[in-house]
Amino acid sequence: MHELLRLAFEHQDEVVEYRRYFHRHPEVAFEEKETSAYLRQQLTEAGIAWKPVGDAILAEINGEKPSSDPKTLVLRADMDALPIKEETGLPYCSEVEGKMHACGHDLHMAMLLTAGKLLNGLKTEFSGKLLLAFQPAEEMVCGAHDMIEADPFMDSADYVIGTHVMTDLPTGTIGLRKGGLFFGGERFQIYIDGKEGHGARPHTATDALLAGSALVMNAQSLLARETDAFDSAVCTICTFQAGSACNVIAGSAYLNGTTRFLNEPRRNALKTSLDRITEMTAQAFGCTGRVDWDHYVPAVENDAEMDELVRKSLGGLLGSEALREAPQYTVSDDFSWFQMKTKGYYMVLGCGNGDEAHASPHTPQFIPDEGCLPIGVASYLKLALDLLN
Ligand SMILES: [Zn+2]
Ligand SMILES: [Zn+2]
Repeated sequence: MHELLRLAFEHQDEVVEYRRYFHRHPEVAFEEKETSAYLRQQLTEAGIAWKPVGDAILAEINGEKPSSDPKTLVLRADMDALPIKEETGLPYCSEVEGKMHACGHDLHMAMLLTAGKLLNGLKTEFSGKLLLAFQPAEEMVCGAHDMIEADPFMDSADYVIGTHVMTDLPTGTIGLRKGGLFFGGERFQIYIDGKEGHGARPHTATDALLAGSALVMNAQSLLARETDAFDSAVCTICTFQAGSACNVIAGSAYLNGTTRFLNEPRRNALKTSLDRITEMTAQAFGCTGRVDWDHYVPAVENDAEMDELVRKSLGGLLGSEALREAPQYTVSDDFSWFQMKTKGYYMVLGCGNGDEAHASPHTPQFIPDEGCLPIGVASYLKLALDLLN
C-alpha cells in the first residue's frame, strides 16, 4: 500500500467523524453559516491560516521546500445541502427537518478538511502554495462564481482540482475523463411582440401566439439539423404563455427554457442559432422576437494536460486498475467556474457498494459508501505533493 494511502486510512475515523457532523447539520444554499463556522474552527485548531470570503472559506498552506518555480494549487469542496427530508434511517441522519446532504457535499468537505490538516503536517515535503476553497451554494450553481468574483485568489492559481462522489462507480475506484464531464447549462427567456386584435378579425392583428407556436417547432431544428450527431446538446422550451381571452388575438408571447451543452463552442452555437431562429420566425409572422440569456454555468471540461498528470499521479497511488474512464453526466456543477480561471480537473470518486435502493443522489434515500473517504483524502495528498513538486 502506498504510504499516503496508509496515512489516509490511519485518519479514517477522523474523516468519517467530520462527514457525520456535516451530515447531521445540513444547511442549504446561502444558509451555510454553521457549516462555515465549524470549518473555520477546525482549521484554526489545526493551525491553518484562513480567511472568510463571504460564507466561503479560503485556507492557505505554504510549502516549505525551496523551489525556483513554485506553483499554486487550489483544492475545492462545496458546502450546501438540499431541501429534502431524509429517509435513510441512519443513526447519524439529518437533525434539521426538511434538509439533507443528499448530494455528498458532506463527504467533499470532510475529505478536504482532513487532507488539508494532513498536508499542513507535510509542509516540508512540497513547495509553492496550497489553497483550500470551501464554497457555498453549489446547488444553485452560483456559489463558485460568487467566491471567485469576491476574491482574486484564482488569478494566481496554476491548477484547481475537485472531486464529486458518485455511486455509479464502485468504492475503491476514481473516474477520470479528459474534456467534457458534466454538462453546462443556460436559461433563456423569449419575448415575442405583435399586435392585439379581435379574434374574428385576424387580418387586423399580428398574432404573437402563432409566431410563438412556429418558434417552438423551428427551435427543434437546432438539434436535428445544426448539431453534430457526435456532439451532445439539449434545447428545451419549458413554458409558453400567450393570450388572455378566447376572442382576443395575442399581442405578445413569452417562452422560456434551457440549453445544455458540453463545451463553449456548442453553447455559443446554440445561442447564436436560437437568437436567429427567434428573430426570423417572429419576423416571418410580422412580429419581433428577442431572447434574453441568464443563469449560465459552464460545462465541467477537464484540461487535457492535467488529465495526463492526474492519471500518472493517481495510478502511482492506487494502481491503474482503480482508475476508471468516467462517463459523461448531464448534471451541472459550478466547479466549472474555477476551471474558467486556470487549468482544472474534476474527478469522480466511486462511492457505490451495489446498494441500488440508496444509490440515487438528490433523493431522501441517498447513502454514499463512506469507504470512499480515505481514498478521496489520499488522492488529494498525492495530487498536492505531485503537482507542487
Ligand atoms: Zn447536487
Ligand atoms: Zn453535488
